[in-house]
Amino acid sequence: MSSAPRPSGFTPPADWLELLPACVIVIVDGHFRWANPAALDLMEADEASDFIGRAVAELVHPLDLHRVEARIRHAVERSGSNPTTEFRVYSCRGHERVLAMTSKPVEFDGRAGVLAAFLDMTQRAAMEERLQETDRNFRRIMETMQDVFYRTDAQGITRYVCPAVHNVLGYHADEIIGLPAAAFYPDLSERDRLVDAIRQHGFVHDFPGRMRRKDGTIIDISISTHALLDERGEFAGVEGIWRDITQRKAMERELERLANRDDLTGLPNRRCTLQALEHAIERRGGRRETSPLCVLMLDLDHFKRVNDEHGHLVGDQALQHVATIMQRWSRDGDVLGRLGGEEFLLIVDAADLDATLDVAERIREAVQAMPPPARPGLALTVSIGVAQWREGDTDASRLLDRVDRAMYAAKNSGRNRVCRAVAEFPDA
Ligand code: GH3
Ligand code: MG
Ligand code: MG
Repeated sequence: MSSAPRPSGFTPPADWLELLPACVIVIVDGHFRWANPAALDLMEADEASDFIGRAVAELVHPLDLHRVEARIRHAVERSGSNPTTEFRVYSCRGHERVLAMTSKPVEFDGRAGVLAAFLDMTQRAAMEERLQETDRNFRRIMETMQDVFYRTDAQGITRYVCPAVHNVLGYHADEIIGLPAAAFYPDLSERDRLVDAIRQHGFVHDFPGRMRRKDGTIIDISISTHALLDERGEFAGVEGIWRDITQRKAMERELERLANRDDLTGLPNRRCTLQALEHAIERRGGRRETSPLCVLMLDLDHFKRVNDEHGHLVGDQALQHVATIMQRWSRDGDVLGRLGGEEFLLIVDAADLDATLDVAERIREAVQAMPPPARPGLALTVSIGVAQWREGDTDASRLLDRVDRAMYAAKNSGRNRVCRAVAEFPDA
């Protein structure tokens, strides 16, 4: 090994070691024999005698001691200089320090010793420890969280996804990392909408979406994520979490079904039917829809008698049967609902009064001709009122009032018949 040439004609003064800001010590026979002020300072020695004379084994951390002793031996026995090593020591006041030390053999008072220079690495070590702690915390959170944390780059390639993805999508994280996030969306336009929203607002919260699992099933997810920007402020990808909300969605759909459906017939209930009627009227009022709109109100005749004579269960079957017949005569776009009891409303879309009267007549005939399959001996009849939406019917109430009267007109004129609303007569 060649050493750098010394500048000739210059010998540094002996007290330069005293002035040196770096720490320098001499070790002989496993004991500290000399230390410059910087070293005494770092070792928190009030007096030189607090440090000088003490054994290396006394101040070096026990787990690092054999390494330090090996280095000292190496320097003394082989007269070589040692590369930098890091180890922990205790100061004279018992505080732990992390030192980076290089050493070289030296003769001290006629004996073979080691000259060692060291730097205080305590702060860097503490910082590294904190970083490692943060890293450990991050991993622990990632490994235990149920939601899926992910990060993609500007090209939409998945750069990180946490292990929970296996529970949710059925893929292991390493099967996904490196693939485009879009590969897991059943409908690419849904992902485009998500990316547009993130680019526009910088983040999204509880954004709805769907993903395809490894087994092909589609799950509902909710995404909360934000855009990542690079040092120039350019879009660099997204980072956030998404959660499987399939069960929540299924529950919401079930609640919606329960809120809108009639249990017995499975038809829209009163609230839902009237809402549909309001919407249909709104569309006509705003001239967004110009086709005619009619309603047909049906009530079973003497239904109380059916219940009284055959029991409630048969009554229920009769209601289901009439609902089925009405359904058969309604078309796509019509809405058939149960208003309550034995009363049904059919909203007939894009049909004039004559066409609707015709449908009503066919329903009436079908009910009369066809008893419920489970009760072949049960004779049923219905009374039906029909009315058409007119300009001036700004909401459902007037139209409902007219069709109700028409239905009662059918009752009053003997039942088992169809009546149009009085005001719907051309000459009325
Ligand atoms: P009208 O010809 O004048 O309509 O006579 P009606 O007996 O049909 O009329 P009313 O309103 O007096 O009786 C309706 C009956 O419908 C009374 C009620 O017990 C019965 N009903 C209402 N809802 C249900 C139901 O869900 N199941 C059964 N089985 N009966 C019901
Ligand atoms: Mg009735
Ligand atoms: Mg009734």
